[in-house]
Amino acid sequence: MTPGSEFIMKNTKIIATHGPAISGESDLLALYDAGVNIIRFNFSHARYDVVREVLKIMRKNNRNGRAALSMLLDTKGPEIRTGDLSMKQEYKTGDVFKFYTDKKYFSEDGSALFCDYPYLGEDAFEGQVIDVDSGLFQVKVLKIHDTYLEVEAQNGALIGSRRHINLPGIRLKMPGITEKDREDIRFAVEESMDFIAMSFVRSKEHVEELRNYLKELGGEQIKIISKIENQEGIDNLTGIIEASDGIMVARGDLGIEVPIEKLPTYQSNMVRDTLAQGKFTIIATHMLESMIENPSPTRAEVSDIYNSVMQRSDAVMLSWETAAGKYPIQSVNVMSATICEAEKNIIPQHKDFSNAGLNSRDIEKKSLIKSAIYAGEEMGVQALFIFTKSWKLARLASSFRPNLPIYAFTMHLQSVAYMNVLYGVYPQLIENWDQEFIENIYSAIDLCKAKKLLKAGDRIMLVNDIRKGGKEIPLVELMEIT
Ligand code: PEP
Repeated sequence: MTPGSEFIMKNTKIIATHGPAISGESDLLALYDAGVNIIRFNFSHARYDVVREVLKIMRKNNRNGRAALSMLLDTKGPEIRTGDLSMKQEYKTGDVFKFYTDKKYFSEDGSALFCDYPYLGEDAFEGQVIDVDSGLFQVKVLKIHDTYLEVEAQNGALIGSRRHINLPGIRLKMPGITEKDREDIRFAVEESMDFIAMSFVRSKEHVEELRNYLKELGGEQIKIISKIENQEGIDNLTGIIEASDGIMVARGDLGIEVPIEKLPTYQSNMVRDTLAQGKFTIIATHMLESMIENPSPTRAEVSDIYNSVMQRSDAVMLSWETAAGKYPIQSVNVMSATICEAEKNIIPQHKDFSNAGLNSRDIEKKSLIKSAIYAGEEMGVQALFIFTKSWKLARLASSFRPNLPIYAFTMHLQSVAYMNVLYGVYPQLIENWDQEFIENIYSAIDLCKAKKLLKAGDRIMLVNDIRKGGKEIPLVELMEIT
């Protein structure tokens, strides 16, 4: 929240992907002012030197209070691609050609392709359809030979070098974390980034592998977002949610890997199931795809954002729209406006959620937060105040989806960054944190008054601690602002 700038009161958070369309500090601040909460660096494309410079600018503005933008590194993950070609190759429907899995047998003949997944011959089956170039070119397997597959083009296409390949329905023999991912994760730790979005998570073991690796690097505080991108991820969702901090509905790959008509069902189930475990969700990809080229969106895109808000996702994400589109700021404006409109129409409904992963003190606090929300709503208070050193209490409050803004106060900038992803949470930093807690209430009220979030006569419910007999005792209180 920027003192002086007009603050957008929206509960659903926005993630914008960084890229060449965002040049420098003024664009970053314009994105923030338009409603962006988190900047995503897509390490399928990002370069260390460029990202390092952007992070420097973000940190400076986070520290001086001009912005509050969190930093998210999205890993490339285990990908399958075609090989290099000296020129693009054209295919017509019905063309039959060879798909090699061993580079030493592959040579360019105007139609043959190479696939860098060495188990393609073992895993594929006759009749299977393989998606090339993110689904733009489909080929059917006719026959499996020792060193290549004989395939038939199902549509016409022009194919260049290193195109993305998807093998729907196949349990891939691929590592959870690749060597490139390890280097990028090390970079995220060195740069104290806030979130890592792990691509192609297929089991809870993949998430545990990342958590262990982060621990090894001293980066265990980084929050892990598991990207669900194929059927195996869907099948193992419960365990993956348990092991993760949040879930991304990565619709780009998921829409190729599963029958496309199932995508909306999977999306709404993922949001529901993740929230039931008190974790956060992000809905990603093609939210405003047409705005890469055009200044206004399609009707369907606006409805898609609206419906994502109605499903109660914590955040929605922009990819190419902000990374390489012609209208990055306008895209965020459309997204913010649509979120605000949808939030007026949300059906107010609370659902309790699982206590798994919470210690007994968290569970006590959770029930106090729950009563503060119910009582506060019944009494018509203006806001819920939460004081948290980490982000945990804010996460618990957010997961109830209260119909009150959650003003969450903390002593750590990094906790502000984590809370930026949570639905309905407006995190704020208290610079002179009172270890006895009581002064923090007055600092918090002053902050809210200065930002015109509250005025004299407004009432709040607060969940705080007091120190008694050397112990921290949680407390719920109704307060009137004077
Ligand atoms: C996706 O597939 O929807 C996604 C977000 O991942 P990426 O952009 O890395 O392909």
